[in-house]
Amino acid sequence: MPDAAALPAPARALIAAVGRTPLVELPFVAEVAPGTRLFAKLESVNPGGSIKDRPVARMLVEAWRAGIFAGGRRLLDSSSGNAGISYAMLGAALGVGVTIVVPGNASRERLDRMRAHGAELIVTDPIEGYDFALREARRLAEAGPDRYWHCDQYSNCHNWLAHFDGTAEEIVTQLSELGLGPPDALVAGIGTGGTLTGTGRRLRQANPHTHIAAVIPETFPGIEGLKPYGSPGDIVPELLDATLIDETLAVTSDQAAAMCARLARLGLYVGPSSGAFVHAALEVASQRRYPVIVTFLNDTGERYVSTGMWQQIATLRHT
Ligand code: PMP
Repeated sequence: MPDAAALPAPARALIAAVGRTPLVELPFVAEVAPGTRLFAKLESVNPGGSIKDRPVARMLVEAWRAGIFAGGRRLLDSSSGNAGISYAMLGAALGVGVTIVVPGNASRERLDRMRAHGAELIVTDPIEGYDFALREARRLAEAGPDRYWHCDQYSNCHNWLAHFDGTAEEIVTQLSELGLGPPDALVAGIGTGGTLTGTGRRLRQANPHTHIAAVIPETFPGIEGLKPYGSPGDIVPELLDATLIDETLAVTSDQAAAMCARLARLGLYVGPSSGAFVHAALEVASQRRYPVIVTFLNDTGERYVSTGMWQQIATLRHT
């Protein structure tokens, strides 16, 4: 994280609380691959409740330093919700106006929290998906360049750099504290591609043989935060380095929810993209070629209460 000394005090405190998350070892990998070790970065402990605090903090500090908001310009971006919460939270702490273009299927908790921080929301048709929200943000920014600064998490290099300098560096350090080298495999999803590109590039520097698996949602309406990467007509995020990807693994919403239930029984209350990653990580483990695997628990399960996910899981358990 760049030096944040010139920022207002609330922003400084929140930004200082971003990152340095626990690396949790998940024991049930032993069922599919005894001897394999599976670790996950617990990103739900970030102050905005998700991994998106990392890139958003870095992108906003860079913009603040460059004087982007000095004339009263608003911060604008599209988001499926987690980045929107980070923008709304840190924008409020910086005293910067925030406008988020968000597809209408973002969970109630996300919409409520962004509004609570004072963000203006432009809610787009959920059927049109993330790509439409992104196009809408680009259109607004072009129409009002003095009113809006489009942060554009899909192309802003500070998104992937936050993961290169932060997330991946922490993984290497935390594994070495356990007497382990850099991971043999990395399992990540693709929203903007920031996590996969940033951590993938840094971990490949540390170990050129790191196997990189990308998780994609198999079912509609999908898994919040993950892009149905590769379908015809989809916008491929500008900053995604697709050459890093060795393997793609499709996960259904039901598989993701079932894994969330298992993780909750370990005390880890996380959302469906985290469930999808751990499900996919077990598939990678079952190949028995990767002794140390790292993945992400990207956001808190509290963000999905209104979707009925947890009730659905409770019903499944009793039938
Ligand atoms: N999971 C969740 C819960 C997310 O909110 C996001 C980001 N939208 C992702 C995964 C994907 O992360 P990235 O944007 O770094 O590709």
